[in-house]
Amino acid sequence: MTQAMIEALDEEECWTAVRLRDRAFDGGFVTGVLSTGIYCRPSCAARHPRRENVRFFSDGAAARGAGLRPCLRCCPDDVARDERAVLAAIAAIRGAEQPLALGNLAARAGYSPTHFQRVFARHTGLSPAAYARALRAERMTEALSDTGRVTDAIYEAGFSGPSRFYAASEGRLGMAASAWVNGGQGVTIRWAVVATSLGQMLVAATDKGVCRLSFAEGPEALARRFPKAELVEGGEDFAALLAQVVAAVETPGSGSHIPLDVRGTAFQEAVWRELQRIPPGETRSYAQIAAAVGKPGAVRAAGSANGANAVAVLIPCHRVVRSDGSLGGYAYGLAIKQELLDREKP
Ligand SMILES: [Zn+2]
Repeated sequence: MTQAMIEALDEEECWTAVRLRDRAFDGGFVTGVLSTGIYCRPSCAARHPRRENVRFFSDGAAARGAGLRPCLRCCPDDVARDERAVLAAIAAIRGAEQPLALGNLAARAGYSPTHFQRVFARHTGLSPAAYARALRAERMTEALSDTGRVTDAIYEAGFSGPSRFYAASEGRLGMAASAWVNGGQGVTIRWAVVATSLGQMLVAATDKGVCRLSFAEGPEALARRFPKAELVEGGEDFAALLAQVVAAVETPGSGSHIPLDVRGTAFQEAVWRELQRIPPGETRSYAQIAAAVGKPGAVRAAGSANGANAVAVLIPCHRVVRSDGSLGGYAYGLAIKQELLDREKP
């Protein structure tokens, strides 16, 4: 591996992705482990190697060139094949009149049922059967009136009353004097988990703005992220903001006025601002984002910054795809990414 390649990969960000088992980086690089002679995708579920034994490679071919073998557990060379298989299965499930058996879906992909179930869950967060159930529930919801749905969901969740709590906030990245570096010490974070057409959504906010928006995640994850913050569920002051956030997720492109309270490195923040400039209905490649922030060589670092985005949808990291037009990764699974992009199509 050349020095230039190592710099482009940005080792610290790769290692962070590995420690978080961040699926968004699968296909972006592989993790070589010198002590065992194998290489893995960043999200491999195996126990983490010691940092000093790890070398990062741009892809499997580079790792094999260094004498390493692919991991039998995470099959790092199958990222593209997995992605195709999952998307094909999603299309089949969506188009089917009757539920499809796992064995049937697996056979179409050429995987064993157990392996296919694991691959599917890695991408979507759900088993194929659970995905089909969620799809049916979503279609039933869609059949109901769309207008009342968002508000009803929130009021049923126990929130009520108007609020001017966030009225003074401005629609920008709120990165003033937050205490994020100290694990949120001295900060009160209000949160709620609400049902949306994309599944369960976690929304959390400080009094400056939204600090976390994620899917298939509960308050435990929030506590890990902000270990010293005071976490408070719901509350009237939070209801108005929550309603705006849910509406922004259900109606793409409507959330640009929502205040955010996120903090990253100068480079990450530059990337996030650039993501906010991508209009709904359009996409950019990681290379385009890197060039737009003035670092055309830092394509993988731009990918890492994209993956480090704490507020899905509001900072639209789903609008970044691979240069060849394929979806690339997404922290909450490709099905959600595809759905968000489909909704934004003009
Ligand atoms: Zn592995």
